[in-house]
Amino acid sequence: MSKTLQAIRGMNDILPEQTPLWQHFEQVVRDWLRAYGYREIRMPIVEPTGLFKRAIGEVTDIVEKEMYTWSDALNGESLTLRPEGTASCVRAALEHNLLFNTQQRLFYSGPMFRHERPQKGRYRQFHQVGIESLGFVGPDMDVEHILMGARLWKQLGISGIQLQINTLGTSEDRARHRTRLIHYLEGHQALLDEDAKRRLHSNPLRILDSKNPALQDLIAAAPKLLDDLDETSLKHFEELQAMLRVADVSYSINPRLVRGLDYYNFTVFEWVTDQLGSQGTVCAGGRYDGLVEQLGGKPTPACGFAMGVERLLALMEAQGSLPTVHVPDLYIVHSGEQAQRFALTAAEQLRDTGLQLVLHCGGGSFKSQMKKADASGARFAIIIGDDEVNAGVVSLKSLRAQAEQISVPIAQVAAMVRHSVD
Ligand code: ATP
Ligand code: MG
Repeated sequence: MSKTLQAIRGMNDILPEQTPLWQHFEQVVRDWLRAYGYREIRMPIVEPTGLFKRAIGEVTDIVEKEMYTWSDALNGESLTLRPEGTASCVRAALEHNLLFNTQQRLFYSGPMFRHERPQKGRYRQFHQVGIESLGFVGPDMDVEHILMGARLWKQLGISGIQLQINTLGTSEDRARHRTRLIHYLEGHQALLDEDAKRRLHSNPLRILDSKNPALQDLIAAAPKLLDDLDETSLKHFEELQAMLRVADVSYSINPRLVRGLDYYNFTVFEWVTDQLGSQGTVCAGGRYDGLVEQLGGKPTPACGFAMGVERLLALMEAQGSLPTVHVPDLYIVHSGEQAQRFALTAAEQLRDTGLQLVLHCGGGSFKSQMKKADASGARFAIIIGDDEVNAGVVSLKSLRAQAEQISVPIAQVAAMVRHSVD
């Protein structure tokens, strides 16, 4: 016998037991986005590799190590499964002229792909919901994004998610900081790992984002970007904090928060929980005023964030914030050829009234059909035999309460089911 085929490691099937939680999440998210006036955009899952190199930055974990990239068999073009949504979203906005004299509040959702070591909360195919506000200088828009996060956690019924903020300043700030940082790191060459050595001169800020435990002391003692900020950057950061205080959002400043992508400036933030082990960041984002221009558009201020759906769902499960499981209203059992035909049309008539029902298929004894009816979770069984067919009615039996089975004309089933308390 041949070996059973398996999915790729780190790429998960989402099974019927789990989809109710996903659907509940998606429903809450849709309503939440509407409440803030965000419109959906859907981009392709595959993009030219150059898009991500240009947007995310060549010297980043994502571009150096995590992308699924291949060469197209027909024309040799380098293609990549999207590792994130911002680059594609901005590309699409530019390609379709969505930023011409106007601002945009957009959202996207769907699978992202990164070639990482799979572990709890870290997968190779995972899902994000992301929003991007294009054309807003902020920091009022940065605050809108943060308030949106806070509201969503509430609406999902989860608690214990903390907000960390930082600022990455302007490119001039970062250039100043870079010099100090390189100087500091050069003084500790021996402590650097391979990645850090390689990035020391190409992208030293990225070293601060390293997850290597051996580097954490070195990172903690490194010069802080906060100390290299000019007045504009400080003002943006101060105003952001003032608005957060007015909105009564608690936060902490994490000067080590640099984010794993190169396109950020000014505000960056992460929503973090300590309830998911080391994969504790459930949502992350910030301002990326340079990206639109970097991808060929006119200079356009912008900011956004993306949340990790799997991590949020894990948190909902851990905190018992689960949706009620959906069950059909009815399960129709039938015996005999005549009854089966009658059941077929009865089922369609009942669906016309808005009822949700499962029609038994595949034959079997009355007893085994009733077992399936029970297992379906339906509140009622409709039973159809020769007697019912001859009388032009169906029998309605509660599967959850001790009640007599009754004969009902099809036209009255919906009312009876809706009005029964059980
Ligand atoms: P991390 O530091 O955990 O690798 P990141 O900075 O690479 O995260 P972002 O690119 O900011 O992540 O993506 C936004 C969110 O998407 C993360 O905060 C996280 O919740 C989720 N996410 C990122 N990578 C993965 C992954 N491989 N598996 C599951 N969720 C992920
Ligand atoms: Mg990562």
